Amino acid sequence: MRILIATIFPEFVASVREYGVIGQAVKNEVLQIEILNFRDFTEDKHRVVDDYPYGGGPGMVMKPEPFFRVYNYCSEKYGGLFTVLTSPQGIRFDNSVAKSLSQKENLLIFCGRYEGVDERVSKIVDLELSIGDYVLSGGELAAMVICDVVSRFVPKVVEEESVKRDSFYSDLLDYPHYTRPADFNGMKVPEILLSGDHEKIELYRTAESLKRTALRRPDLFIKRQFSEQEKKALIWLIRELKDNAE
Ligand code: SAM
Repeated sequence: MRILIATIFPEFVASVREYGVIGQAVKNEVLQIEILNFRDFTEDKHRVVDDYPYGGGPGMVMKPEPFFRVYNYCSEKYGGLFTVLTSPQGIRFDNSVAKSLSQKENLLIFCGRYEGVDERVSKIVDLELSIGDYVLSGGELAAMVICDVVSRFVPKVVEEESVKRDSFYSDLLDYPHYTRPADFNGMKVPEILLSGDHEKIELYRTAESLKRTALRRPDLFIKRQFSEQEKKALIWLIRELKDNAE
């Protein structure tokens, strides 16, 4: 997969492809992340990307020309594109949007700035995405969030089993994690995790996942269709609670 990010602050965005699992995937060429500077797609001496709003009012608006030039350049170079505009007015970005975007061959993400982007840019936009109900100073942080989350769904970027166990993959929160030491200042790792009994450990983890989801995200828990393993884990959990109470 190839992710293209168009911005006026390429150095700001560059770190998204330099660290951790995403950095490794880029190095191993499992994933390509290209960053384009809108100013390279201007034709005037001062490389201007913004102008005053028609009708007056505060702030500046991003001009349409650099967007269309970036779009034409990328589609000529790479073929079919799926284009996202970062915007607080877009649909809310979440795991299921990320999963579907990870199927695209070429994903182009536009970062807005100033008061926003000339409305005519919507002609070349497939989807407007918001990362939450607040206003950022620019689309760069949103594009980095989208790029990171989408990349995790690209095969071989992160171990598949690990992605599947992450929070929200199947509308459950992840179970708690522990590492050495087994006893840290009197705070002990749950004994079951030291038992070596893999079946019991799986049951415990499923039960913890369900417990956390019920407590922290009742909205997800309430509409869940439980699998056989989850039913077993819930019964196990209730028995544990009963035994501890006695
Ligand atoms: N005047 C615009 C409005 O109220 O809808 C906000 C413009 S904001 C200062 C500048 C840019 O930041 C936007 O064009 C968009 O690219 C980005 N942005 C701001 N908040 C965002 C959010 N919640 N999600 C995604 N992008 C956002």
